[in-house]
Amino acid sequence: MPVTLVVMCGRCGGLLLAKADQKTRTCPYCGSKLALDRAKKVASAENAYEASEILRKLKSDSSVHGMHVRRAEDL
Ligand SMILES: [Zn+2]
Repeated sequence: MPVTLVVMCGRCGGLLLAKADQKTRTCPYCGSKLALDRAKKVASAENAYEASEILRKLKSDSSVHGMHVRRAEDL
């Protein structure tokens, strides 16, 4: 079962979810296309639910204030 990754957009710093078997992902914030093998992986999760929980924790973490965090609706 593919894991869900939390990756950071290298262009705008936004966090988005991607499946581990995906090659590319379009950033929902700035529209840039990310190559997932080169993108910065913030976290990995067993499933989309766990990944969204991680996103929620990251969002509430004051050390990442200013970062755009939003769920990717198409997962
Ligand atoms: Zn972006």
